[in-house]
Amino acid sequence: MLEYQAAKDLLQGKTILVTGAGAGIGRAAAIEFAKHGATVILLGKTVKKLEAVYDVIEQAGYPTPAIVPLDLKGATEQNYRDMAETIGEQFGHLDGLLHNASLLGALGPFEHIDIPSLEDVLKVNVTSQVMLTKALLPIMRQAPSASIIFTSSSVGRQGRAYWGPYAFSKFATEGMMQVLAHECDGTSVRVNSINPGATRTEMRAKAYPAENPLDLKTAEEIMPTYLYLMGQDSSDINGQQFNAQ
Ligand code: NDP
Repeated sequence: MLEYQAAKDLLQGKTILVTGAGAGIGRAAAIEFAKHGATVILLGKTVKKLEAVYDVIEQAGYPTPAIVPLDLKGATEQNYRDMAETIGEQFGHLDGLLHNASLLGALGPFEHIDIPSLEDVLKVNVTSQVMLTKALLPIMRQAPSASIIFTSSSVGRQGRAYWGPYAFSKFATEGMMQVLAHECDGTSVRVNSINPGATRTEMRAKAYPAENPLDLKTAEEIMPTYLYLMGQDSSDINGQQFNAQ
């Protein structure tokens, strides 16, 4: 676990988009970024959950966030381009992008992989990240210094039996991070990945139903790595894989 103490105003004046901001790790990251001064753009599928996060941020007196309801499963390149244009008009540029939303999909033996469900997992976990990043890169290059964080998993670094499409998608995520980081070398944009490690969320409970959630770290506890990679203290870090625990 990274021993990192972020300055209170680490993200002051920055605009950061978080996908899957309505629940779990994305929710915690959005609130933590706002607490450190950022204006966060909350992207997610379920509007009610995004509104609840918006309220927490507003009530705490942090910078007023923005809400972007979007289902990554159905979104088209045009949807992402329109969104990027709106963000550009409203904020001028984008300083941070946390790719956090993911589908777990079905776990089970390889022979039982259901192809339509594999395609859904790859659409949400991989293709949507490509489309979102493609659309946002131009306004991220306008920022004095920008950070893109991809969310990986232990099964995206070492394959494991029965983890099927989710594991394939996380290997693709790591590959995407490395390719993009190499392209961004020496520019104002840096690109890294985080493996959150076992964290007390709905997704974890679905993957490990017999586990006691109270034995796990909370999403709030793993935030130092996210803050470090989003803020200026990591400005010369590019193409690296991090473990939040
Ligand atoms: P949760 O399932 O708790 O939250 C996932 C978030 O992604 C939700 O806000 C969900 O929105 C959103 N999301 C899912 N599908 C879509 C979609 N089609 N369009 C838009 N948003 C969508 O997951 P975690 O917080 O546990 O996981 C966050 C990240 O961390 C994921 O990338 C996961 O793979 C990774 N991870 C998590 C670990 C853990 O132990 N928790 C361990 C290793 C990696 P909605 O609620 O509206 O569906």
